[in-house]
Amino acid sequence: AGVPAAAPAPPPARHFFSDPAEVEALRGSLLAWYDRCKRDLPWRALGGVGASALTPALLPAVWVSEIMLQQTQVATVIDYYNRWMQKWPTLQALAQASLEEVNELWAGLGYYSRGKRLQEAARKVVSELAGRMPRTAEDLQKLLPGVGRYTAGAIASISYGQATGVVDGNVIRVLCRLRSIGADSSSPAVIDRLWDMANVLVDSSRPGDFNQALMELGATVCVPKAPLCGECPVKQHCQAWRRKLFGKPHPVPDIEDCGVGDCPLCPPATEPWDSSLGVTNFPRKAAKKPPRAMRTATCVLQRRGCHGAPEYLIVQRPSSGLLAGLWEFPSLPLAQDLQEKKEREELADQLQAWMGRPVAAKGLQFIGEVIHIFSHIHQTYVVYSLHLDGDVTLDPALSPSRWVTEDEFHASAVSTAMKKV
Ligand code: SF4
Repeated sequence: AGVPAAAPAPPPARHFFSDPAEVEALRGSLLAWYDRCKRDLPWRALGGVGASALTPALLPAVWVSEIMLQQTQVATVIDYYNRWMQKWPTLQALAQASLEEVNELWAGLGYYSRGKRLQEAARKVVSELAGRMPRTAEDLQKLLPGVGRYTAGAIASISYGQATGVVDGNVIRVLCRLRSIGADSSSPAVIDRLWDMANVLVDSSRPGDFNQALMELGATVCVPKAPLCGECPVKQHCQAWRRKLFGKPHPVPDIEDCGVGDCPLCPPATEPWDSSLGVTNFPRKAAKKPPRAMRTATCVLQRRGCHGAPEYLIVQRPSSGLLAGLWEFPSLPLAQDLQEKKEREELADQLQAWMGRPVAAKGLQFIGEVIHIFSHIHQTYVVYSLHLDGDVTLDPALSPSRWVTEDEFHASAVSTAMKKV
């Protein structure tokens, strides 16, 4: 038996907000700036404490907007958000929607499981929680599918006024700069510290506004590449900004790193402060894994419809996995490095099995390649087309399928990648 290892020393105080007067001053400056400069966003009109807090049947606006905003830009989300809230303003209405309707409205927004889980969660609130939304971050995260720590904090603070912090990509950037945190900002140790900090900073009298203000600062001022430090309402509390101003030639003790090698929040000793980067030294991330390359053969099967207009065959994807439940042209994942001739033959075999009649590989017309980047997949669609005479009956044991006109295709729950095809 040896001597028990000593617990690691807590990181130095410079990486936190330990002075209550400074916390108070930062809250005041940030909220005053937010009141002056906040963007006019539709969920803010509906989403302040009051609407869903006072009318529990309403679908909390912040819930919908936050789920849509994961991985998607504000400008894109606005239109989807407005259509969603018009169609399903209450928890009950959303609970009664079908997955097909949800996918149709979500089409083009990407990461389709988000919409599906939002609808499942509304169903759960209605059927298992007597229609009452949980109101604390802890309960929201525990009880609702698809609601993680961030979304739970956002709903609890913005919709229901709980004094709880939030940490998203914008908040990570702002806090890492304010407290010169240069360790890998995606590591659990750093993320835990940032949550602690967000919970200390949040203003208990206006928690929802404070959290939105911190995120808004990251989205509009403390942006990734060229932050507007001159206009920043909290620059006097920002260590990255002070360090940029004073730089290396005039070292000031409290803007230097804590010490080489033993501070879990400072930049690694091998990658010290780079004065050419200024405040964008922070945050730092470990290198990302490159996306996986995939090739998929896709066939646009076309026939003449009853009024002479062309119709196209679409089939439904399985109900789990990538693009679950969405519709697409008949497609077949291909092994990498297949020869073109072999790709074409494999696709013809697959179509033949589908339609129960011979399909000659030569009859498939090569149209071109379409590249689409999913978050972790670099997908190349190899696109063919085939014109059919007469009717085609697909084996009903296979995936659901249907013939659609071009307009119907665009109105169906199809992914952006298929629209490109
Ligand atoms: Fe971000 Fe600059 Fe403001 Fe610091 S001073 S929080 S780096 S915008």
